Amino acid sequence: MHSMQGFGLTGKVAIVTGGNGGIGRGIAIGLAEAGSDIVIAARNEEKTAGVIEEIKRLNRRCLGVRCDVRNRDDIKSAVDKALQEFGGLNILVNNAGVADGVAPQSTAEEEWDRVIDTNLKGTFRFCQAAHPALVKTGGGKIVNIGSQCASSAMVAHYAASKGGVLQLTRSLALAWANDNIQVNAIIPGWFRTDLTSPVIESEPFYRSVVRRTPAGRFGEPSELAGVAILLTSGMSDFITGQSIVVDGGYSLMM
Ligand code: NDP
Repeated sequence: MHSMQGFGLTGKVAIVTGGNGGIGRGIAIGLAEAGSDIVIAARNEEKTAGVIEEIKRLNRRCLGVRCDVRNRDDIKSAVDKALQEFGGLNILVNNAGVADGVAPQSTAEEEWDRVIDTNLKGTFRFCQAAHPALVKTGGGKIVNIGSQCASSAMVAHYAASKGGVLQLTRSLALAWANDNIQVNAIIPGWFRTDLTSPVIESEPFYRSVVRRTPAGRFGEPSELAGVAILLTSGMSDFITGQSIVVDGGYSLMM
C-alpha cells in the first residue's frame, strides 16, 4: 500500500491510555480524524467525557472506560469493553504517564513505585492484556510514549521508567513480530500540557528550554498526531522496535 490512502484508519479500533488530556488527547483526536474509533482509558471521567464529545463530533465512535493503568482488572475491563462495543482491537497507544521533578536523593520509595508502576509496568500490563485481542484481529499496532528524559537523564525515577519503556518496546517488537504486531515508540521533547505546566510557570527554566530548542518553542500535543497516524497505519507495517523523536530539534543540542 503506497498511497495516501495507506494512512487511513477507517474501520480500526484504538485504545488510548490517558487519552483524556494533553498528549493523549492530541493523539486520540488525530487517530479519530484519520478514521479510527477510539476507546479512552483514564481515571478522570469528567475529563474523558469532554474528549468523547469532541471525537463524536468527528463522526467517530468513542467510549470512555474508567481505568487506572496500575490496576490489572481495570485494564482487562478496558480491553473487554473495546471488544464488546466495537468488535475488535487494532491499535493500542500507551500514553498514560506521571512525573515529578524530585531529586534522586530525596525520592521516596512510594514515589519511585508510583512512577515506575504507572509509566513502565502500566505499559507492560496493557500490552500483555491487549496481545490476545490483537492476535485475534490478525495483528495490530502498539505505540508507546517514551520521553527525551530517558536520554537526557533528567529526573532519575522518571528517566528510568521511560528508558524501560524504550527497551520494552524493542523486546515486544521482537517477541510479537510473528503475530504481525508492530511495536514502536514516540519520544516527545517538551510539549505544552498539564504535566509540564510547572516548568512553563517557572520562567527561567521555561526560557532555558525554549532557548535550547532549535524550533524556539514548546510543541503542541496535536503535533504528535502525524507520527502517531504513521505508526498506527498500514504505512508502517515494516517498521518495528523503533523510537521516533519529535522535539523541535531539542535532542540535537545535547
Ligand atoms: P498530562 O498530565 O497532561 O496527561 C497524562 C494523562 O495520563 C492524563 O490524561 C491522565 O488521566 C493519565 N494518567 C495518569 N496516570 C494514570 C493512571 N494511573 N491510569 C490511567 N491514566 C493515567 O501529561 P502529558 O500529556 O504531558 O503526558 C502524556 C505522556 O507523554 C506521558 O507518558 C508523559 O510521560 C509523556 N511525555 C510528555 C512530555 C511533555 O512535554 N508533556 C514529554 C515527554 C513525554 P487521568 O488523570 O484521568 O487518569
